[in-house]
Amino acid sequence: MSLDEKTTETAQEALDNLIAGVIQFREDIYPEQRELFNKLAHEQTPRAMFITCADSRILPELITQSSPGDLFVTRNVGNIVPPYGIMNGGVSTAIEFAVMALGVHHIIVCGHSDCGAMKAVLNPASLDGMPTVRSWLRHAEVARTVVEENCGCADHNTLGVLTEENVLAQLDHLRTHPSVAARLASGQLFIHGWVYNIGTSEIRAYDASKGEFRLIGDGPLPMATPKSRYV
Ligand SMILES: [Zn+2]
Repeated sequence: MSLDEKTTETAQEALDNLIAGVIQFREDIYPEQRELFNKLAHEQTPRAMFITCADSRILPELITQSSPGDLFVTRNVGNIVPPYGIMNGGVSTAIEFAVMALGVHHIIVCGHSDCGAMKAVLNPASLDGMPTVRSWLRHAEVARTVVEENCGCADHNTLGVLTEENVLAQLDHLRTHPSVAARLASGQLFIHGWVYNIGTSEIRAYDASKGEFRLIGDGPLPMATPKSRYV
């Protein structure tokens, strides 16, 4: 289906397509992977926690070529991680569960190109009539201020720089969570800041030692994790 055809999809067609997918999954896809789903029926041991935007164009399993059971995913508008203690909602709960109960060794915060949330941070007037979104995006305010005060970037670059700074701000917030801080200190947990480009498929990761984002697969993997102290 082309994008044009999809944008003219009626409400009924949208539902019909979803239901057709449900049936296709059950009748065609599931039988091919029955062994995997039977194994997953009673336990999960994900290899990473993946925190990303709710944007429909991001498929964490697709862009990392992961299978069911591989990623513990939390999504929200703007891939935000509220600082610990401010709002013990879904994101904080998912982080604590992933680290303490599942023992994940990696947490990835992944922003993306053309992010509507980041555009709204740059243009707060667009949030008139959306008080909940406005309130949620205050957790990205720090990134906007960092860009405003430091980046002499041309207008067309501002969104990209803000998107990167927002990922770094959320990594900072992530480190305020006690479960995360404790396991970072002991070297049992690694955190990663990524930005996914929808149009090119490229993912750039933050290199804390160099203070820059670099393409994954181009040299050593850029690492955002601070040095551990209790190994
Ligand atoms: Zn987004």
